[in-house]
Amino acid sequence: MADLLSIAQARAIVRKAIVPLEHEDVHVEAALGRVLAEDVVAAHDVSPFASSAMDGFAMRPAAAGATLTVVGESRAGTPADVVVGPGEAIRISTGALIPEGAEAVLQIELLTVSGDTIVLHDDVPAGRNIRRAGEDLQKGAVVLRAGIRLGPPELGVAVAAGRGELRCSRLPKVAVVATGDELIEPGAPLAPGQIHNSNAITLSGLAMQSGARVFTVTGAIDTLEDTEHALSHALEEADMVLVTGGVSVGPHDHVKPALEALGVQQRFWRVALRPGKPTWFGQRDNALVFGLPGNPVSSMVTFLLFARPALYALQGAPFDIPRRTAVLTEAVERQPDRDEAIRVSLATDDDGVLRATPTGPQGSHIASSMLNAAGLAIVEAGPGGLDAGTRVPVEPI
Ligand code: AMP
Ligand code: MG
Repeated sequence: MADLLSIAQARAIVRKAIVPLEHEDVHVEAALGRVLAEDVVAAHDVSPFASSAMDGFAMRPAAAGATLTVVGESRAGTPADVVVGPGEAIRISTGALIPEGAEAVLQIELLTVSGDTIVLHDDVPAGRNIRRAGEDLQKGAVVLRAGIRLGPPELGVAVAAGRGELRCSRLPKVAVVATGDELIEPGAPLAPGQIHNSNAITLSGLAMQSGARVFTVTGAIDTLEDTEHALSHALEEADMVLVTGGVSVGPHDHVKPALEALGVQQRFWRVALRPGKPTWFGQRDNALVFGLPGNPVSSMVTFLLFARPALYALQGAPFDIPRRTAVLTEAVERQPDRDEAIRVSLATDDDGVLRATPTGPQGSHIASSMLNAAGLAIVEAGPGGLDAGTRVPVEPI
């Protein structure tokens, strides 16, 4: 099918259509999962001061057997207001500021305390048990780069570096529209010919996991009028619209004419991909519209291959998700004219080799093939099949 786009060609078209979203300041408490839009620089050294690595006593360098007089205490958060002179020591806690004059700390286990004096059981060279200022992060150093997704460690480092707010990309606003006369709400009883609308919940979940805010999930019956109405509402606010179903050429497929009527410009339709051939992509101003096939597996696969990178890039994160290479544990058929995205589970064997095992029958209507799938193995179009042991690229899910 020479007229169909390859996955890479389709992706390049999506990528070109993306205008990254604006930025906003987000309090660190609300920034989990956000994509950072600035480089974060340490406002001060971390730790900001030289501190003790142990509970014990701070002193000048001293030798084993020395007896010192205790002249004060430095606690975490409450520094001592004394200077440590020769023959003197102060009690100190882990993380407490090293007082003026002191150059080392001996831990409590290596000395004897009696009243106001201590006897050292070990030599105490300068620097022992001292954490220097800036040992973790130095003032002015770039500690986080724009484009990363903020997880708990990144937020912790940002806070330690002095930040309470972070410049982040705005969340992409996503609308999900499921088309089809046959679709019934989750949990509702089915009349003959009806099925439950499972795509809507899967696609909204995938979008949320990709950092989006899903602001509306609607359905449309298979009329041009209703399809246009639902899409028109979705397009009012959306940065991205995910439509499922109705994108083929059947007499009841109204998504393409409805989008055309709404001024959404087609950028591509149909990809040499299984599952997911009828995938449609278009654009109205900055809003991206994905017409995903109705089959549950097709809609998930095409979301992962085309819409997920777009959501990442809208947020200023890299568009491409790094592929991995895995070894097939089973032989697979190849499609003569379309690349195939096979749902696979992934496991690393004792030799550290990543192994990919198909999750079962791979028909586009076999939704259960999505269970336990950790990746999509991309099997290139070609004659015959691939033997077990063949290396294939895998897009992590
Ligand atoms: P379509 O792309 O509209 O031709 O639909 C292809 C297949 O996907 C048909 O079997 C539909 O019943 C099914 N389908 C369409 N939309 C959904 C949905 N939201 N949830 C589950 N299955 C769907
Ligand atoms: Mg349909």
